[in-house]
Order: sequence, then C-alpha cells, then structure tokens
Amino acid sequence: MTAPLPASKINLLGLDRKALQDFFINAGENPYRAEQLLKWIHFQGVSDFQVMTNLSKTLREKLSEMATVTLPEVLYEKAAADGTYKWLLKLADGNCIETVFIPEKTRGTLCISSQVGCILNCDFCSTGKQGFNRNLSTAEIISQLWIAVRKLSTTQGLHDHHVTNVVMMGMGEPLLNLDNVLPALQLMLDDFAYGLSKRRVTISTAGVVPAIYQLRKITDVALAVSLHAPNDELRNELVPLNKKFPLQELMAACRDYFKEDKRRSITMEYVMLAGVNDSPSHAKQLVKLLNGVRAKMNLIPFNPFPHTTYQRSDANTIALFQDILMKGGLNTTIRRTRGDDIDAACGQLVGQVKDRTRRHERYLRSSEKKIIGDQG
Ligand code: SAH
Repeated sequence: MTAPLPASKINLLGLDRKALQDFFINAGENPYRAEQLLKWIHFQGVSDFQVMTNLSKTLREKLSEMATVTLPEVLYEKAAADGTYKWLLKLADGNCIETVFIPEKTRGTLCISSQVGCILNCDFCSTGKQGFNRNLSTAEIISQLWIAVRKLSTTQGLHDHHVTNVVMMGMGEPLLNLDNVLPALQLMLDDFAYGLSKRRVTISTAGVVPAIYQLRKITDVALAVSLHAPNDELRNELVPLNKKFPLQELMAACRDYFKEDKRRSITMEYVMLAGVNDSPSHAKQLVKLLNGVRAKMNLIPFNPFPHTTYQRSDANTIALFQDILMKGGLNTTIRRTRGDDIDAACGQLVGQVKDRTRRHERYLRSSEKKIIGDQG
C-alpha cells in the first residue's frame, strides 16, 4: 500500500470538494461526481473504485487509470490502559507519523499530525527534539482521520467510541503547512465526507501570527494557542518562535480571530513546568496579558520524555495557579493526562523522522524567508 504512486496518478484522498470537482471537469465528466466520490471515499471508507457501484463501469475503469485512493500503512496500533489509542503510520517515503484517539464520556477526540517532526524546537516538547523532515500532504493529513474512523469501528471494546472532535495537536505546526491543512479542514467539515462542526475541529498553533490572520479569512474553526509563558523573556526561551512574533502581536491576532462571533473564545494552552512558569506571579501576569482577549485557559501538566530537564508542577501548585486565574476572571481547566503509558500524551509524539538535519536547516531558512515576507 505504500508503494510510490505512478507519477501520472493522482491520489483522490487528498482532494476536497472543489478540487474533486475540478478533477472531474478536467476529465470531461460532470462535477457532481465529486459528491459521489467524497461519500465513497470518506463516508463509506472505500478505496477501491470497482466497489463504487453507482458509477458506470466505464467511469470506474477511467478512474483506475487516472487516479488512486492510497493510504499510509498502519505499522502498529497501541491501546493505553485508559482507552487511549495510538497508531504509527508509515508514509510512502518511509517517514512515520503518530495519531492518537482519546475517548471521553461525551466525545471522542482524534489528535492528528500536520508535519513529519517539527521545526519550532520548543524546549519542553519531544516532537521538536526529533527535528523536522517535511510537511504532510493533504492526503496524509486526512488519512489519519480515515484510518481512525475505520479502525475504531472494528476495534473490540470501543464500539461506543467514534471521532466527534479533531485537534491538530499532534506532530508539527499546522500553521506552517496551511496550504495542505486547509483542504484537509474542508474535508473534515464537508457533510459528504466527515461532517464535523467547525467548533469541534481545533487548530493548535505556537503563534504563527500572519497565518492566524490568513486562517481567519478562510475558515473559523476553533483555535488553540500554545502560550506557555506570560512575558516575552520567558516565552522566547520556551517557544523560540516568540522572538519572531512576540506576545503583543500574538495577542492582537487572537483578539481579531473571533471578532465577528462574540460567543466564541480562544483556548490558551499552558504547560505547567515546575519552577519555570508556574508561580503565583506568573499567574497574575497572565491575567494582565489576557485582559481584553476572549480566552479560556487550559493548563497542561508537563509530560516528561527521555533527556528532558523539565519536571511537572505538583498538583497543589497547579490548583493554586488555576485559582488565581479564575479569580482574575479567566475560565481555566486542567487537562487530564491521557495515554502516557503508551507515550501518547501531549508532547510525546515522535514518529520516526528521517534525514532530518539538513532538511531542517534548509526548511528553516526558506520558511523564515516566507514568514518574514508574509509580514510585509
Ligand atoms: N505546534 C502546535 C501543535 C502541536 S503541540 C502548537 O504548538 O500548538 C500540542 C500541544 O502540546 C501544545 O500546546 C504543546 O505546547 C503541548 N506540549 C508539547 N510538549 C508537551 C509536553 N512535554 N507536555 C505537555 N504538553 C506539551
């Protein structure tokens, strides 16, 4: 299944409704075929054109010659004691990515990756420590949802669980791969594909400010921002991207994001690192920083990984921190750690990143240029 595609064949898995319509128009066919294909591929989970019985035999043959529906190979599936699932997926070029499903009483959340590795190198995140290889294609992004939906429907003991929410909080920075992420979002929201509501699809970003403005123009899915520090000095250390887009610029982009929908707010993620960012004074600074930003806070107890020097804040410190934020008017929740016995918790996804160093350097140079260019 992971054999490289013949150059001339297109993988229909990665085409959203508009792109599929264009594909059929170019093939001399009626564009309404796009809806049929979306339903077969994403709703029914069919990858073999011959099974698509409401298409004529001639059209099925034509599709087989022009296109494929190709998925990554599932290398392994692991289940944690708490019902969390993790899949390691092998891509056609041999790189691997991880996808995690987190079942809860009233919802099932799929955490998906957007890149092989990550370029941002946040100090407390093990994905960043793996280096960076490349962006995922739209097909590779959406394939994680395709595979999870199918696997969960056949996994014993998980009959009640299905994907109701998607968070782009796996490996990578989704807003540095916007071109491929956007069509994947369209597929998630499309009624003929997965039909998720825009409030149940979340993009998480370390703060790529120009891309937040760009995202807002096209869609208004839920937004989570990895804040992690209340001032530039500390944030520069923890999230190096902050040197490019400091807090003031980031807060302006956040204030702008839901400006047309006053009922919605941005989730601010804040990893709790013992003795680093977890003091009462940090909490008070946060209250000030977020004054006028419609935000809710989500405190994430740090998940350790090999060779890290950080430690998780203890429960009392986290509770006190939450208390100060709440008293300051910030709705604050504490994220329950899930799946850590199979390394599936936040910041523990590493996959297998190949050939990283030189690509990492090259990518860094080109994306820096792009980001600075975008800023004007
Ligand atoms: N690049 C995106 C999405 C990936 S990270 C972003 O930065 O938002 C998803 C979330 O997990 C982020 O909030 C990230 O900061 C957090 N995280 C990373 N490493 C972690 C760790 N070791 N423990 C707890 N949370 C972590």
